[in-house]
Amino acid sequence: ADVGAETAATISRRDRLLGPAYRLMYERPLHIVKGEGAWLIDSEGRRFLDIYNNVTSLGHCHPRVVEAICRQVATLATNTRYLHDTILELAERLLATVPETELAHLMLTCTGSEANDLAYRMAKVRTGETGIIVTETAYHGFTDAVSQFSPSLGVSVDLGAHVRLVPAPSAYHADGADLADRFTRDVEAAIADLKRHGIKPAMLIVDTVFTSDGVLPGPSGFLAGAVAAIHKAGGLFVADEVQPGFGRTGEHMWGFQRHRLTPDIVTMGKPMGNGQPIAGLLVTNDAVARFGRDSRYFNTFAGNTVSCAAAVAVLDTIEQEKLIAHAATIGDQLRDGIAALADRHEAIGDVRGVGMFVGVELVSNRETREPDRATTSRVVNILRDKGILLSACAKGHNVLKIRPPLVLSSEQVDMVVQGIDEALAEAMSAGAD
Ligand code: PMP
Repeated sequence: ADVGAETAATISRRDRLLGPAYRLMYERPLHIVKGEGAWLIDSEGRRFLDIYNNVTSLGHCHPRVVEAICRQVATLATNTRYLHDTILELAERLLATVPETELAHLMLTCTGSEANDLAYRMAKVRTGETGIIVTETAYHGFTDAVSQFSPSLGVSVDLGAHVRLVPAPSAYHADGADLADRFTRDVEAAIADLKRHGIKPAMLIVDTVFTSDGVLPGPSGFLAGAVAAIHKAGGLFVADEVQPGFGRTGEHMWGFQRHRLTPDIVTMGKPMGNGQPIAGLLVTNDAVARFGRDSRYFNTFAGNTVSCAAAVAVLDTIEQEKLIAHAATIGDQLRDGIAALADRHEAIGDVRGVGMFVGVELVSNRETREPDRATTSRVVNILRDKGILLSACAKGHNVLKIRPPLVLSSEQVDMVVQGIDEALAEAMSAGAD
């Protein structure tokens, strides 16, 4: 794509300095210099509506979080080897979101990958086993151990011999089958297959809205059978809340709460500090006891005073701005608006999600539900040029992944729906050329 001389020069400078492993979004990459609410602003002052970045879940540079960070960074920035009240306040506040469970402690990391890495270490120590069950296009992180159970990384990473994949619960592709039943049977079959190879399960880990698999929250409660199966086989259930956590589902603070069950470990990250690198785990006594007895845990930057202050401000803001309820209302408006476009656009096969998570599955044939990757990619890039930022996911790369900040307004929803309407029309006529 023609990106102009200045952008081309920045891209080649970046390639030279950062090397070949990094990727940019969009055919015409963005050079963003400022963020404000749901908006990102580029080096030429152009504004883009960001409906993709679920880290800055309260909106970019939320004043309350900025203020908390500034105050704390000017006072004390240090680690968990000193007593400090803010980390304890954060633990009390997060544990208060799961009062009726056995989740008893908070442990902090800097990234979601580290949280899942630590969850797996703990699960191995607790169970004495190594097997892992994940969904077939899941992403759980970049470390050596976690990349081996992150199949969305594709052929670049070998999944471990101790890893088994199960399909995510897609109602759109289920032809009326009972998703709970099917998921339970798939998990049981994975456990049996591990056993045939002399491996027992340490854990079943799922992103509780199955984001990378295509935004597939499934019916509430459907996970219970699979969780019972992993427990029966001696493994732990780990809820990866890095994407669904902190109110995005519009129903509860955590995605697993839709299923009325208690995970042994809950991992969280992305929106936890609204941009500050803070992530962590809630763990039961049972999950952490042996690990805690045999190992020390120290992570230089994790749980630092500044990140903890940001995370407390995030919790305050979710409460004070009533963002969980807002996510439900605005999320419904967004889904209904996009679903109404299906009358005009044959490419829309399915519109689904929960709260501020929306997946729009684009197909080349509604009968066969054939994935339309080319149209999806065109729509993403056309929207970028129109000033609306989102991306795609799922095995067929044919699902528009929409995760706006929880503060998105009703007027901004209208802009998104109109943008998708126009982009689909343009993408189809470009495809017909
Ligand atoms: N789990 C899930 C479900 C994620 O989406 C991600 C990041 N996309 C991670 C874990 C890893 O988090 P991080 O990038 O902070 O390491």
